[in-house]
Amino acid sequence: MFLTISTTGTPERPATDLGFLLHKHPGKAQAFATSHGTAHVFYPEATAARCTAALLLEVDPVALVRRGQGKGRGGAPDTALAQYVNDRPYAASSLLAVALGGVFRSALAGRCAARPELPPRPLPLRVEIPVLPARGGAELVRRLFGPLGWNSVRTEPVVLDERFPEWGDSRYVRLVLEGELGLQDALRQLYVLLPVLDDAKHYWIAPDEVDKLLRAGDGWLAGHPEHALIAARYLARHKRLTQHALERLELARLAEADGSEAGELDDAVEDAVDEAAADAAAAGPAVPLAVRRREAILAALRTAGAARVLDLGCGQGQLVQALLKDVSFTEIVGVDVSMRALGTAAKRLRPDRMGERQSSRVSLLQGSLAYTDKRLAGYDAAVLSEVIEHLELPRLPALEYAVFGAARPRTVLVTTPNVEYNVRWESLPAGHVRHRDHRFEWTREEFRGWAGRVAARFGYTVAYVPVGDEDPDVGPPTQMAVFTAATDTPKEGEAA
Ligand code: SAH
Repeated sequence: MFLTISTTGTPERPATDLGFLLHKHPGKAQAFATSHGTAHVFYPEATAARCTAALLLEVDPVALVRRGQGKGRGGAPDTALAQYVNDRPYAASSLLAVALGGVFRSALAGRCAARPELPPRPLPLRVEIPVLPARGGAELVRRLFGPLGWNSVRTEPVVLDERFPEWGDSRYVRLVLEGELGLQDALRQLYVLLPVLDDAKHYWIAPDEVDKLLRAGDGWLAGHPEHALIAARYLARHKRLTQHALERLELARLAEADGSEAGELDDAVEDAVDEAAADAAAAGPAVPLAVRRREAILAALRTAGAARVLDLGCGQGQLVQALLKDVSFTEIVGVDVSMRALGTAAKRLRPDRMGERQSSRVSLLQGSLAYTDKRLAGYDAAVLSEVIEHLELPRLPALEYAVFGAARPRTVLVTTPNVEYNVRWESLPAGHVRHRDHRFEWTREEFRGWAGRVAARFGYTVAYVPVGDEDPDVGPPTQMAVFTAATDTPKEGEAA
């Protein structure tokens, strides 16, 4: 598996700057151990006028088979020989993308400490991949790379066997890309599109693949006409992960249309990550955990007979949207500290398409739950869905007072991850929380301890409801506490 990246230069801007950008010295041949073999980086030419870096991945096919990853495609899976005799060792493929991601990690991230002025600069680039597996053919290769800013995207068929031209072409092409592009952009495209063209992802699809895809796709994927195909193939057609990726790309497009930066949307879409993690990890529940959470919340609100409802930390507004569909909820207020999240929620709700009656039922407020807020007083119920774990523990008492003491709805629903359940998620390294923004995750006992203290302090009773499939040992993936005010309408703050 082989690819070369070439650039040209002048004495003032020598082509060998490519070495700085790639963090690999043009004078040295270097080898890196990767999980699938050895990656070699070397420079067949390195002058001020012209510089070419080559990445050669020497795959160890036996190791691949041992790892159960070298099965190739389409062939009879039960023939032992087919596992050893396949295209893995020489076709540029997802393995090459993995190697590229490892060996050129800094360049992919656009980092160049030695010469920070270099990464943003477009370069005259030429990328050549002599043997590129192309599921979908040359036509798809052009559809994928065509819209990405290259001056020329050339593909040539690779004959099956030069000695037997009558056998015709193989399903590989030789690809040559030429144009003025930033190196980071070029590498990101390759990182995503090589596995897409290979369409035989060899490694387990972990929930963080969605993140990887969106990171590498930042700035070019959301607006790509083939983004749906790219996401589906990159994620090995994993339905729910693809769905999440597409939702997040949709948000990125909205942000672009807005003139805001897509990267900043991370805040607003953080729960999508949780959903993705939940989906892939839980042994295939038909309904994503986030959906089951919403259903559990809606059921609890109906049981409580709530009509006027606060969704505190409403994020992208999925729950607000669900509440709107049920006319028994007469007033729905979404509150979040993030303007960006609220912006996304507003777009999701499409107020322009709402009738007057509908739009009068809903409002979105910006505010922090760590402060008392008069606007939140007097509601039937408040929901804190996957919110408390986003606050630093020392800030939590402030939220408790603002919600249970000051706003004081009759019913308060609090959901939060059950950290015990994390061991059931293969994708989650031991000791990790489900989302990088989670400041803590609690066991069932810790949650009940907290909820019990809050209930006692503010005059509520509390019951616990499991959300998601309950595991006999570690409990449900999500835990919910249903607080009910013991006294109906104490004065504001009195209970504190
Ligand atoms: N309730 C949604 C979103 C959960 S993500 C759901 O269940 O899917 C957590 C949300 O809490 C984010 O939107 C974040 O902006 C918001 N948040 C975190 N700290 C907050 C605070 N102090 N005040 C208000 N919102 C907060």
